Amino acid sequence: MLKDKTVIVTGGAKGIGKAIALKFAEKGANIVLNYRSTVPEELVSEIEGKGVKCLLYKADVSDFNEAKALIDTAVSEFKTIDVLVNNAGIAKDNLLIRMSEDDFDSVIDINLKSVFNTVKCAGKIMLKQKSGSIINMSSVVGVSGNTGQANYAASKAGVIGFTKATAKELASRGITCNAIAPGFIETAMTEGLSDKVKEEAFLSIPLKRFGKPEEVAGLAVFLAENKYITGQVINIDGGMVM
Ligand code: NAP
Repeated sequence: MLKDKTVIVTGGAKGIGKAIALKFAEKGANIVLNYRSTVPEELVSEIEGKGVKCLLYKADVSDFNEAKALIDTAVSEFKTIDVLVNNAGIAKDNLLIRMSEDDFDSVIDINLKSVFNTVKCAGKIMLKQKSGSIINMSSVVGVSGNTGQANYAASKAGVIGFTKATAKELASRGITCNAIAPGFIETAMTEGLSDKVKEEAFLSIPLKRFGKPEEVAGLAVFLAENKYITGQVINIDGGMVM
């Protein structure tokens, strides 16, 4: 189903985004790989090694004009946008009383405003096509909240509201929009956490292990291939939040 389709992955240089780009490439999709600072040249070769095209595009997706340029470039190169995966995200954890305004704003801008930016631009194209799948990366923290993550939790809860509203607006043209809510996945984002935080997280996971980026990627492909799931938030967290 995904062969020769166009898939945009934001923040695709590493972690979950990298795994998602590779998984879609394995399915035969052409990839528009967005990155911000780390140039993922080896990843481009790995993707192309799967017999598909890969367009590497640098953009800070929290900036509307840069996000628009990403979408415009994808369309001029590949003509359609079949799947948009909004994966780019950051965390800047701190207790609320110590959290700076800058750390609140930047997390909201990168995790939530970026989703508005890309979906506003790609949504227009998908409406014309009368097809498309949008997958937004939320977090279980957006559902349950978490100490020290008021900014991150607010951004990820915002992604859930945005996903549901967008799903309702775009459904009449056959476009689906869903959110993925990962729990604790082994990436650079979680690597830097203290042993104490990791131990506490581990104890709260019924399946007694952290998740792998490839498992999240498998869910993204499933959502892109399924045309009768929309407006949903799918937890992938080893049972952490039930
Ligand atoms: P990661 O390894 O830190 O990767 C995040 C990616 O986002 C990086 O490639 C980063 O690029 C990119 N990025 C950040 N800001 C950007 C911007 N303004 N424009 C474009 N790209 C930007 O994190 P991850 O763990 O794979 O997380 C991926 C997504 O899953 C995030 O939305 C995160 O919130 C969510 N998530 C992760 C977990 C987890 O346990 N890991 C759990 C729940 C949700 P640079 O390196 O160049 O900045």
